[in-house]
Amino acid sequence: MTATEIAAAVRSGQRSARDVVEEHLAAIAARDRDLHAFLVVVADQAREAAAAIDAAVARGEDPGPLAGVPVAIKDTLCTRGVATTCGSRILDGWEPPYTATTVERILGAGGVVVGKTNCDEFAMGSSTENSAFGPTRNPLDPSRVPGGSSGGSAAAVAAAFAPLALGSDTGGSIRQPAALCGTVGVKPTYGRVSRYGLVAFASSLDQVGPFATTVADAALLLDVIAGHDPLDSTSIDDDHAPVSPQLAAGVAGLRIGLVEELTDVDGVQAPVRDAVAQAGAALEAAGATVERVSIPSAQYALSAYYLIAPAEASSNLARYDGVRYGLRVDADHAAAMNAETREAGFGPEVKRRIMLGTYALSAGYYDAYYRKAQQVRTLVIRDFARVYERCDALLAPTSPTVAFPLGAKTANPLEMYLSDVCTIPSSLAGHAAMSVPFGAGEGGLPIGVQVLAPALGEPVMFRVAAALEAAAG
Ligand code: GLN
Repeated sequence: MTATEIAAAVRSGQRSARDVVEEHLAAIAARDRDLHAFLVVVADQAREAAAAIDAAVARGEDPGPLAGVPVAIKDTLCTRGVATTCGSRILDGWEPPYTATTVERILGAGGVVVGKTNCDEFAMGSSTENSAFGPTRNPLDPSRVPGGSSGGSAAAVAAAFAPLALGSDTGGSIRQPAALCGTVGVKPTYGRVSRYGLVAFASSLDQVGPFATTVADAALLLDVIAGHDPLDSTSIDDDHAPVSPQLAAGVAGLRIGLVEELTDVDGVQAPVRDAVAQAGAALEAAGATVERVSIPSAQYALSAYYLIAPAEASSNLARYDGVRYGLRVDADHAAAMNAETREAGFGPEVKRRIMLGTYALSAGYYDAYYRKAQQVRTLVIRDFARVYERCDALLAPTSPTVAFPLGAKTANPLEMYLSDVCTIPSSLAGHAAMSVPFGAGEGGLPIGVQVLAPALGEPVMFRVAAALEAAAG
């Protein structure tokens, strides 16, 4: 059952939330030992929440648009009293004193949190193999990765452990795993969804968003979590125009661009390139006009991202000092305690990013690296602005490849970084983007087509996504 169907059934009293939750907990118990989508399952808490929802329905109250819907939460989001590790040893044993706004909104809408999902350590990675607690496997082929960094959330939805999940996306971490697991994944416009309670990786890029099995379910969850939050200073200060009512609007008259630099780039598998072309043809058949467009600076976006994101991470991760959070390795004096805690608590990819970021920000290198990267970011924003004068939305691959085998890219960080070559440009621009399953590639594995829209272009983006979903059948 989709989230939309579950909520309707629970609200009308046709199904009990208790029943729905038990069914999903049973699915988790049966299969998550093999997949490892979850770091923590909060079964008792979920049962209590479900009982409260059933009681509300019995009293004639409406529990809200997510009534009784199980939701999985990426472990980069704070949940009061429930361990939150970001896939890192350094947060081992830490229980946040507060809950992320997005999670509060889900609970307030009648959603039932079932657990915290595995991810690459501090969301740095594209395969979930950088989790300190072991990798997650792709439910469609357990010898392959689910993508990352929100691989646990993508796998949880693909394995039907929960119809909805939250992830966080800094450079592609919702969209790429969604593509690899055959789910829908949405990175909202920067500032559209609250980051309060999202553990910071790269604050100018981080954004929380939904995973779902259908476009309508993704819209349902986005409409619950989006909107102004006074607790997040980067939150856009206006009302969120709900996207759910847009889904039936169709694409007639919309102008769609196929981004050349993201589609014809080296490393994009032929079936992926074909899927984007077919997606364009499907939109044309549905009444849109489709043309090829160019974002010349997109080819430099990946390099700029791998300076900007590590630079911000090197600053954000300075807070893990053995004093304020989680792990502490005791030593003779404070500085040694700080160093030994960080040495023991951070994994290799996180250390690599901290060193890269610190280097890029240091005197003598700042102009050559960090400043240059910010200039590229400005060019990316300008190139998009020029194209969006002519186009309402854009199409590109989400991931250059389908899900790859575990271990295939762990020895070569650069190759792993290239997994996000198609998702990073809209992240740098702060725009909306989402991945929709469209066709299959090597081994019958799912392909995700990416729909890109300008800032606050979610309504048009969801119209295009709904049309692609209908065409994909
Ligand atoms: N895979 C990219 C990285 O490693 C993006 C991660 C993300 O979006 N959190 O930085």
